[in-house]
Parts: sequence; structure tokens; C-alpha cells
Amino acid sequence: MAKFFLRKKIGDRVANGHPWVFGNELGDSEGTAEPGDIVEVYSYNGSFIGKGYINPASQIRIRLLTRDKNETIDEQFFYKRIKEAWEYRKLLGYVENCRLIFGEADMLPALIIDKFNDHFVIQSLALGIERWKGAIVNAIQKIFNPKGIYERNDVPVRTIEGMEQIKGFLSAPFETNITINENGLKFHVDIENGQKTGYFLDQQDNRRAIKPIVKDADVLEVFCYTGTFSLHAAHYGAKSVLGLDISETAVATARKNAELNGYQDICKFEALNAFDVLKQWAKDGRRYDVVMLDPPAFTKSRENIQKAVTGYKEVNLRGMKLVKPGGFLVTASCTNLVTPEMFLNVIGDAAKDARRTLRQVEWRTQASDHPILWNVPSTQYLKFLIVQML
Ligand code: SAH
Repeated sequence: MAKFFLRKKIGDRVANGHPWVFGNELGDSEGTAEPGDIVEVYSYNGSFIGKGYINPASQIRIRLLTRDKNETIDEQFFYKRIKEAWEYRKLLGYVENCRLIFGEADMLPALIIDKFNDHFVIQSLALGIERWKGAIVNAIQKIFNPKGIYERNDVPVRTIEGMEQIKGFLSAPFETNITINENGLKFHVDIENGQKTGYFLDQQDNRRAIKPIVKDADVLEVFCYTGTFSLHAAHYGAKSVLGLDISETAVATARKNAELNGYQDICKFEALNAFDVLKQWAKDGRRYDVVMLDPPAFTKSRENIQKAVTGYKEVNLRGMKLVKPGGFLVTASCTNLVTPEMFLNVIGDAAKDARRTLRQVEWRTQASDHPILWNVPSTQYLKFLIVQML
């Protein structure tokens, strides 16, 4: 196995538990490695750090899988890691749906596995983990004996790793339109054509958090995707709910979800661009008791953080103007590039511009099946805030 040595004058990030080794942190090497191979990493003075997979095409040159010199990376290794991750979720109370593997936070960098009851959706986002896809599928088969496994590898980041974007079955074909249960409601999930893996499991606890503020309320949900927050609002007693999303497909599914739960009279959905309508609606004097915003990331790269901040500010300012005095704003941000502090500052700035005072109700993050590993700050990505707007 090839050996790679870290340069002397680099920070202690890797030594302190971060699994990524960047190309410019590497000095000498011994032996050769093909892209995707397992290699050993040592400090400049030869002490063992870990084993991981390498890809010269990526700035993140090596991602560590283990820090145990005696651990072999083989089929059994992936079985053990996935089994451990499932035991951890079960310990936390997950039964039916969960993010089973959250990449770095489960010591399986660049691997995502979502469990929708008996169905599993995989994303392998680096070449080195792609190589082990067979072992990963075998492990899922062995542990869960599932109804089906699907890969949603139609993700642009794969091209950076020199891989094609693909999606398809990793088990015998199955019906990819499924329904799942969450918080006493049912939701259609389109594994094949839905966004990301089909459903945003990370908000499942946050959806429950709106319960006390929606009773008898007129609610607006912007960026509603398949209407999950809207349906929770109806379930918790809202008088009326309007959900908006730019995607016709998402809105069609949201309507189906309303019917599936018997809330079609309360929840209405429209396919509209939020940036086109919110300003006008504020001018028209429309007001809601609760406005919920869960916009897309606005940026995927560090260079464009300012663009994301501008986007969040704009959307939140517009949302705030639609909230009645004493009403509530529910607002989220799903990119790790915007830190919790930055997000709160954006909301504070928007409130200043809207000349409103905020009273904080809830300040939350992603559900615990998306664990936050303290050594890997990017594992904390979701911000979720409920404020009363005085
Ligand atoms: N809250 C949802 C997830 C929202 S994801 C859930 O928990 O399931 C963000 C959504 O914003 C996507 O569905 C996307 O289609 C939508 N979107 C993106 N740009 C938009 C725009 N300009 N106007 C309205 N919706 C938009």
C-alpha cells in the first residue's frame, strides 16, 4: 500500500480528527497508487495517521476511512461501519426513516444513504467510495433485507471526481414512487425524480417544532417542495395554508400529499417564483399569521457566499413584510457555507430593514440522524429559526 507523508508546516486539522487531506498538505510519498486506491497517511516524521482513499483529480486528495493501523479496508469494514451507524440511529429512537449514513459524520466520507423504511437511496460522491459501492450494497442487503436500493448519483460534484452522473437500481427494480410516515402524516416520495434523494429528512424534528404557532393561523409556506411543512401546519390546526414552489412537479406532489392526508381543503399549492410574487403581495397588503421559508442553498462554493447572504436577506426581508404584527416567521438555511452566526446576522439585518423587533421562539439545527461531528465543521449545515415578529 502506498504511503503519503504530510508536510511539516501544515495545521493540525488532520491530526485533530478531520478526515480530509488536501493536495497542498502532502509532501513525500512511497509507492504508487491508482485513483480511488486505499493509501496510508503519515505525519512528516513518520507517525501513522490513518488510511483512506486517494484521488489526484480532487483538491481533497485523500479522505481517511480509519485511524486504526490494524483495520483493513474490505467488505467487512463497510458492513461494520453501516451496522454501527444503524445501531446509533436505533439508539436515538429512529425506526422507519432516517439518514443512515451522513458521510464524514459516520466515518464514511462522501457517502450518503437515506433509509425510507424498506427502501434505500445511495449517493457516492467521491471516486474512492464509488469503488466500494458493491460492498455497501451487500451490507445493506445483509443488515436490512430491503425492498429496494437505488442510486441518486445524478449529482454535479461527481464530475470533479472524474465520475459520470448516473441514477438507477442497485437491486432488483422496484416501484420508486413510495409513501413514508412522518410525525403521524404520510408523504409521497419519488426516489427516482425527486430532489436530492427524494425527501428532506433533515427537517423532520423542525416540522414538529411549528406545532404551537400554527393553531388557527393563516399560513404561507414559500419554497414548499412537496408541502411537508404545509401539511404539518394543517395537521397542527392551521386555518388555511398556501404553499409555493417554483417546481410544477413539486407542487403536483404537494397537492397529492394534501389529499393523501385529507387536508386538501386547508392546504393549497401554487407553482410560482417566490422572487416574482412576494414583493407584490406585500404591496397588495396580504398578511399572514405565519410565514415559513426554506429556500435553496443559493450557492455551492465558498467564493459565492456573499451571493447566498444577499439571497437570504432578500427572501427573509420579503417574507417578514408579509407577517402580521405578533405573527411568526419560520426560516431556514441549508448550506454549511453560511454559518449559524452569519445566518442570524442576516435575519437581524432584514428585521432592521423591515423595522420589526424579533422575539426568538426556537433556534435549531438538523435532526440527529445527520450528526454534527465537531472535528468536521461542515457537518453542521442546517439552521432553523422561529421568531415572533413584533
Ligand atoms: N421545505 C422543503 C424543502 C425545500 S427545498 C422540505 O422540507 O421538504 C427548496 C425548494 O425551493 C425546492 O423545492 C425548489 O424547487 C424551490 N425553489 C427554488 N427557487 C425557488 C424560487 N425562486 N421560488 C420558489 N421556489 C423555489
